[in-house]
Amino acid sequence: MKFKSIRGTKDVLPGEVEDWQYVEETVRRVMRVFNYREIRTPVFEQTGLFARSIGELTDIVSKEMYTFKDRSDESLTLRPEGTASALRAYIQHSIGEQSPLTKLYYIGPMFRQERPQAGRLRQFHQFGAEALGSPSPQLDAEMMLVALQVYRELGIREFTLKINSVGCERCRPPYKLKLIEALQSVRARLSPESQARVDQNPLRVLDSKDENDQSLTRDVPLMKDHLCPECSQHFSEVQTLLQKTSTSFVIDGRLVRGLDYYTKTAFEITSTALGSQDALAGGGRYDLLVEELGGKQTPGVGFAAGMERLLMVLAKTGSQKPQDLRPALFIVTIDEDARRWAFAEAQNLRFKGIRVEVDYLARSVKAQMREANRQQARFTIVVGETELQSRSARLKNMETGSDSAVNLDDLETSLRS
Ligand code: AMP
Repeated sequence: MKFKSIRGTKDVLPGEVEDWQYVEETVRRVMRVFNYREIRTPVFEQTGLFARSIGELTDIVSKEMYTFKDRSDESLTLRPEGTASALRAYIQHSIGEQSPLTKLYYIGPMFRQERPQAGRLRQFHQFGAEALGSPSPQLDAEMMLVALQVYRELGIREFTLKINSVGCERCRPPYKLKLIEALQSVRARLSPESQARVDQNPLRVLDSKDENDQSLTRDVPLMKDHLCPECSQHFSEVQTLLQKTSTSFVIDGRLVRGLDYYTKTAFEITSTALGSQDALAGGGRYDLLVEELGGKQTPGVGFAAGMERLLMVLAKTGSQKPQDLRPALFIVTIDEDARRWAFAEAQNLRFKGIRVEVDYLARSVKAQMREANRQQARFTIVVGETELQSRSARLKNMETGSDSAVNLDDLETSLRS
């Protein structure tokens, strides 16, 4: 029996993992610059946390969650997204009581049982941020700027920022009624999926990918044209702030996103370098969610971005960081004494921060030189009985082929020069 990784999951192997590290380091640097603090939460939670926050009727909760009973018969779920867990922790640890505004970020795996395809996995990774405690549109705009700065720093230029407002508990219900009414006349001709949504989640009919649905709903009223004065003011301030920071965006009145908790701002960043799964990141404001999860009334806003999709775009268009994975020195050894000396000397040099490799397989000198070449070591030395006795060896520059005498007791100086 040969075991295989599960469909929709991926191993990140050496060679690829360096790109992940580069992206993760960039994310952390940008988050620090914007003054977000990292939070790490467990990958599984009580099922109710997600049902309550994301919404029972969403695709994620109704058909994509990895839910299981543990041995004490409690229903648990592998997190399908990061916001619910971050907010659960925020409430549980009374973080809001320590300061009125909290800015958090996370990076980690998420789990959804979707149909795997390019850019869509069952275990995927997101980085994201949450700002809790302020209703200011500045934070809505800041979320977009954080995500965009990560892309910019990675050299990614092909992206579009789409924004919309999905209203609030005051203006959305009357708008929903108007929308349902407008959908009645075309209802029978909509796709089965959209038909099912008309009564329960009519806003989601608007972002149906089905072309026929799109043309049938071309003239239905949009939320952005039915906002209450407060939401309208908020939406226009977000736009002003984006303009003030020279951030281009488009208003997409059909953008609603697949999570129920958004209020006011919703946004998405897409890339033309991706195929049908073109969303790089999405987010929005969720002013009712903390309370919904049992906390004090606390406005909040956040975003989440896919790591795999970002890496796909990076591979196509971005600037990959050339990572130096080459050992500075490969110590080639002739006998057991030399191997023992090399082992100790390697630790000594590594302790000083120099990347050193030795032979662990008692290979011939020729085979070790081949290995040093394969690893593109910058220097090699060959050490045996003679070298150990004279405390001197030849340090060979693998690029030029030239070599020079070095003192075995002071390799560090020779390597550094
Ligand atoms: P969401 O949490 O659905 O708003 O998704 C935010 C971002 O996470 C998306 O824009 C994608 O970049 C990424 N994402 C969501 N679902 C998946 C998935 N199944 N596989 C890979 N990336 C995903």
